[in-house]
Amino acid sequence: MIIIMEPEATDQQIQNVIDTIHSNGMRTVVNKGIVQTVIAAIGDTHKFSTDLFEIIDGVRKVERIQVPYKLVSRDSHEDDTVVTVAGKIKIGGDNPPVIMAGPCSVDTEENMISIARIAKECGAKMLRGGAFKPRTGPRGFEGLGKKGLELLAQARKETGLAVVTEVMDARDLDLVCEYADMLQVGARNMQNFSLLNEIGLTDKPVLLKRGLSATIDEWLLAAERIMDKGNYNIVFCERGIRTFDNKYTRNTSDIAAIPVIQRISHLPIVFDPSHATGKWNLVSPLSKAAILAGAHGLIIEIHPDPEKALSDGPQTLNYKNFKKLSEEIERLISVISSTSPV
Ligand code: PEP
Ligand code: MN
Repeated sequence: MIIIMEPEATDQQIQNVIDTIHSNGMRTVVNKGIVQTVIAAIGDTHKFSTDLFEIIDGVRKVERIQVPYKLVSRDSHEDDTVVTVAGKIKIGGDNPPVIMAGPCSVDTEENMISIARIAKECGAKMLRGGAFKPRTGPRGFEGLGKKGLELLAQARKETGLAVVTEVMDARDLDLVCEYADMLQVGARNMQNFSLLNEIGLTDKPVLLKRGLSATIDEWLLAAERIMDKGNYNIVFCERGIRTFDNKYTRNTSDIAAIPVIQRISHLPIVFDPSHATGKWNLVSPLSKAAILAGAHGLIIEIHPDPEKALSDGPQTLNYKNFKKLSEEIERLISVISSTSPV
């Protein structure tokens, strides 16, 4: 941590800062310049808030040098982390992008089996589907709960696809862990700190969606919280953010977040073109953009009859469009893997 003094700071004020650093168990390196003094605090600075120094008279500015997301950062782990789901699916590193597909909400047995079959046929490795649904209003369809988890498990048995599903409440965590291969933390829960803490105590892989208006730093810190509790199996999921313009798209697709996260963190990142756009006819172009930007996977909403889907129908692909997109993605991946990076 660096403490920059005001040019007119007195020797006593400078000494007060030095004493505060020492009394908190840290060392100092003092640089007395011609205009102003800069003091470096060295040690376990992450334990202290910058407020500790900001309130001292004569201090102009306090800056952290170390990132607060140590475990998530490449500083602590230089190479890409590969997250393994269900003992066989590899997400991250040089592995080909993993496709996850399924309905927004789990509905009927017939649909779930049919969706899982189509997803598998199209090359998806994972089945998505919400049994616990976060809804903005209190009277929307909130998911089938345990019954929904059972239907996901049945579809997994039929097809061998791994299951990713949302856990909304720490009270449901044990139940969801019994059925899921990967826990989804929804956008609305990215800063549900008690839920993140509990998930951190499990060893289930986690799909951590970006909050509706979360900065990249807040998102990294949410992952840091899970890792800090001991669970290192985290995959980021960019799903679009809120901006001033939602006339043509439900959210604004932050494709740049993919390479940004990859530069800062060793953890994998996938893209959700369904929530990022909110429109089925934008899912295909944005999926391709995300793959080209380096996404380690895609999570896509599909349904045999999107108009009858219990949630998010307008952004859901029907089978025909999903098949077409899968073929295009496959071709894109083969082109990328046969060409050296530009
Ligand atoms: C979902 O995946 O259906 C969902 C609710 O996603 P998000 O949390 O990104 O809105
Ligand atoms: Mn949805």
